[in-house]
Amino acid sequence: MRLQLPPGRNAAQFDAGLAAFRGVVGDDWLLATDLDRDTYSDFYAPGDEELHAPGAAVAPASVEETRAIVRLANEHRIPLWPVSRGKNLGYGAAAPRVAGSVVLDLGRMRRILEVNPELAYCVVEPGVSFFDLYEHLQANDIPLWMSVPGNAWGSVMGNALDRGFGYTPYGTHSRNICGMEVVLPDGDLIRTNMGAMEGAHAWHAFPFGFGPSFDQMFVQSNLGVVTRMGLWLQPAPESSMTLAVQIPNEEDIGWVMDTISPMRRNGLIDQNQFVPSWLGKMVVMGVRSDFWDGPGAMPESRVQELLREHNLGYWAVNIRLYGQDSVNQAKAALIKAAFAEHIDTPFEETVWNRGDPMIPMDLSMGVPSAVPLQMGGWTGGRGSHLGFSPIVPATSAHVLRQLRRSRELIAAHDVDFYASFTIGERAANNINMLMYDRDNEEQVRNIRALFSALVEQAREAGYGEYRTHLTWMDPVSDTFDFNDHALRRMNEKIKDALDPNGIIAPGKQGVWPSALREQRT
Ligand SMILES: Cc1cc2nc3c(=O)[nH]c(=O)nc-3n(C[C@H](O)[C@H](O)[C@H](O)COP(=O)(O)OP(=O)(O)OC[C@H]3O[C@@H](n4cnc5c(N)ncnc54)[C@H](O)[C@@H]3O)c2cc1C
Repeated sequence: MRLQLPPGRNAAQFDAGLAAFRGVVGDDWLLATDLDRDTYSDFYAPGDEELHAPGAAVAPASVEETRAIVRLANEHRIPLWPVSRGKNLGYGAAAPRVAGSVVLDLGRMRRILEVNPELAYCVVEPGVSFFDLYEHLQANDIPLWMSVPGNAWGSVMGNALDRGFGYTPYGTHSRNICGMEVVLPDGDLIRTNMGAMEGAHAWHAFPFGFGPSFDQMFVQSNLGVVTRMGLWLQPAPESSMTLAVQIPNEEDIGWVMDTISPMRRNGLIDQNQFVPSWLGKMVVMGVRSDFWDGPGAMPESRVQELLREHNLGYWAVNIRLYGQDSVNQAKAALIKAAFAEHIDTPFEETVWNRGDPMIPMDLSMGVPSAVPLQMGGWTGGRGSHLGFSPIVPATSAHVLRQLRRSRELIAAHDVDFYASFTIGERAANNINMLMYDRDNEEQVRNIRALFSALVEQAREAGYGEYRTHLTWMDPVSDTFDFNDHALRRMNEKIKDALDPNGIIAPGKQGVWPSALREQRT
């Protein structure tokens, strides 16, 4: 990828900054060739790779090296974009918001610093991947379960810092964070909460401290570089049971929501309940041309044929219960009775007991897998996706309204419809996967127009996205508009106070430092 310079820097100034970084990490870990820039670019880019082109990457091996680089970035006015493993596919991968930024790749800091089986938490450095932690727990026979995202190729820390989701009782990942160490934009080093006391014992056991509590301030944020994180894990259950059923019709999502949502609140179901539409199954069974080779969205008649051929419903419900077998069985009876009010299809059931092997690729057991990446191949060509993800209250009225609106817009743009609802205690995360071939200009143009229309339409109806791709960070931030964007004004005041030179991830989530505010799109 062609070199782009950060705003306000000429080639000599940029080179001087890179030379200073090289002095900290050595030649091998300052990565500034065209190939390096390709590696750190957004390889799902929806047509605007240049806008988010990294200038280079630098990979420190320690907290002290990270601090040194942050101080030098201030001196040389070079923006840094921290990543843990940089696998944020669908949201920009490792690429920065501002072209020419240097990606601060923390992947070399990869130690699992502690696992506490008794209190059920771990402490990790940024580079620890889901597979690293899983293998550590398995190899040492530690009875703790993780929660992993669909694509578990990334890092435990990076995913939690982007408010990622998984599909277990610990599936709201940012909620599991307990105690961090953070390099501030001026190079200072803090420990949050109880960790502010040297040698504190309860740092990762108690999620607050003395005075204001700041863990969440560093989530989806550009106020610091997190170098260590405590994260609560799930004690492995004695037994676990699954209940699976296919739900026939599109509109059934209404009663499914009203059935599951109260059970999430009263604790009968404690798992983040993932309910995907039928295409979620198809995208890992083959590519689009295996099922339909025409242009535009797959016609409804073919969809219905495929559902019959593959014995699929429009939605799939896969509930996993965790605990003692007798309790699971009692919960299962109540869940089955609630569903029986709407359908007479029996649930398929499985039981797992402690000592049985973990089930490969089972996200509801926190087993990491990269198989869902196959979705990238759906359209053919260099396949990619964007995820449009508004949050809706977990009631049928909200969910059906959101579904009908986005469904209509997606159909109007002639794009295959793949939606899912991940049901929490009070809200559902409605991820709409929009898949495209990034080398097909027409498809890319169409997907971009569709994504912008979805953001606008959802805002008009009173719904906002929980996370978004680099390109839409400003438009989505614009939709949070109460009192003329008062929250953004506050975020930017804090940004300017902590990061006066604006060197940590400028523009992330639409929060700009004063020096670069004119870059807001
Ligand atoms: C098929 C598919 C399925 C997916 N399913 C899911 C899913 O179910 N749930 C889900 O959450 N995601 C999902 N994803 C999205 C994504 O792949 C994961 O969220 C992935 O874990 C993110 O990559 P990462 O962990 O390497 O984070 P990174 O890319 O390293 O970081 C993520 C964000 O956090 C910031 N950040 C990272 N580390 C630091 C740090 N130390 N200090 C400060 N800021 C930091 C980065 O700037 C970036 O904005 C899916 C993607 C695909 C392609």
